Amino acid sequence: MGESVEAVQQVDVVVVGLGVGGEEVGGRLAAAGLSVVGVEHNLVGGECPYWGCIPTKIMVRAGSALAEARRIPQLAGTSTVTPDWAPVAKRIRDEATDDWNDKVAVDRFTGKGGTFVRGRATIVGPGRVKVGEQVYAAGRGLVIATGTAAVIPPIDGLAGTPYWTNREAVEVTTLPASLLILGGGAIGCEFAQAFARFGVQVTIIEGSPRVLAAEEPESSAVAAEVLAADGVTVRLGVHAERVDHDGGFTVTLTDGSTVTGERLLIATGRSARLTDLGLETVGLDPQARFLGTDDRMRAADGIWAVGDVTGHGAFTHMAMYEADIAVRDILGQGGPGADYRALPRVTFLDPEIGAVGLTEKQARDAGLDVRVGHVPLSYTSRGFIHGPGNEGFIKVIADAGRGVLVGASTAGPSGGEMIGALAVAVHAEVPLSTLASQIWAYPTFHRGIGDALKALA
Ligand SMILES: Cc1cc2nc3c(=O)[nH]c(=O)nc-3n(C[C@H](O)[C@H](O)[C@H](O)COP(=O)(O)OP(=O)(O)OC[C@H]3O[C@@H](n4cnc5c(N)ncnc54)[C@H](O)[C@@H]3O)c2cc1C
Repeated sequence: MGESVEAVQQVDVVVVGLGVGGEEVGGRLAAAGLSVVGVEHNLVGGECPYWGCIPTKIMVRAGSALAEARRIPQLAGTSTVTPDWAPVAKRIRDEATDDWNDKVAVDRFTGKGGTFVRGRATIVGPGRVKVGEQVYAAGRGLVIATGTAAVIPPIDGLAGTPYWTNREAVEVTTLPASLLILGGGAIGCEFAQAFARFGVQVTIIEGSPRVLAAEEPESSAVAAEVLAADGVTVRLGVHAERVDHDGGFTVTLTDGSTVTGERLLIATGRSARLTDLGLETVGLDPQARFLGTDDRMRAADGIWAVGDVTGHGAFTHMAMYEADIAVRDILGQGGPGADYRALPRVTFLDPEIGAVGLTEKQARDAGLDVRVGHVPLSYTSRGFIHGPGNEGFIKVIADAGRGVLVGASTAGPSGGEMIGALAVAVHAEVPLSTLASQIWAYPTFHRGIGDALKALA
């Protein structure tokens, strides 16, 4: 390596990236008594608390409060709603992110016994990580938890313009009059609805024929319906061909039409931060989309990877789940390996859209003997009682061959909560006959699960 002997510090484990997954692995290993160096070049805690889950859900919560107040005339009298972004921006800055300061998180990590190093880590050989001039030699292993960044598509004219990613969108203190969003996945849709409810004219541009294209068509239909009701324009099946910025943004689409907006938010997916990490020095491919891992989160001998970089689903709960497996493996504790059959995911629209396991199409493509049960939420007693804002459904996917559920989707005011019961069923492979005899409380939204199970053809 050419480094001087004095510059090498021996430790047990080096964790590269202290986002959700890295902080969990590093903190737990340090608390267990290992000498752990955790390296982070930005904010300890990662994307989720500063620019992801938490601030965006604060926005969603605020937008939902406005929407619920606007439903009062249909339910309970009159209401006058005057949106103001200032309390939202203040909550994000003061309560959620400490003005994007990670002191609390750094103290949390060092309080468990970890050694924190601020800087950009580069792997320089097996077990060796360099930060500035310092090299750390990890006796037990390296953990790679470098997460993902927003993909910036190579669209003509886009580079060099002041486009937003999720980071600028979360940090905004004054809302634009209009916003173009490239990408109609979960992130694009959540931002679209939240901003629209504060009066921003939002247009989503989505190349697929539907928003939330990775989920059930029924989920896409509900999302499209509620986005339209909130005044969001959704352009489907078209791509952005060219971006011009002259004060505002003009995007030329593949069908020749143009759309304009004061701001442009790029929400076209996430790519793993792997390219400049030095992976080639340990025999791994720096150009790979994700780091392949076995069921113990091992990417190579002495190297573990957790979180978004593994490509199993860019969710905080996935990073925590994989972190737990890596910690147990590094400590030699055994226990269950990674099993992704019952991965839950929630798009935090109003209504929330939950999903777990396989979609109907995935189950059919896997050659299973598929049965589907579906019930619109408005058909259930609770959906009827709820009235305005009751858009949604429950859909269950069964493998009749094995007599178990392999997937489900839920949409409704508690869609993200309802998926919990179905995630248990998919994860534990509860027999359909057992589910059929379950008592579901009346009149809850989740009682609709019983109706969907009855509807399994
Ligand atoms: C807008 C948005 C909304 C989201 N909402 C949700 C949600 O509601 N629910 C949910 O479950 N998930 C949500 N997510 C996803 C969630 O934020 C991620 O899945 C989670 O943060 C992944 O954790 P991680 O540890 O893998 O990576 P990250 O949190 O990205 O952390 C990786 C860290 O590594 C650091 N790093 C990278 N390279 C180096 C290097 N060479 N040296 C030192 N440090 C380095 C980075 O600075 C970063 O802090 C959302 C994401 C976005 C963008």
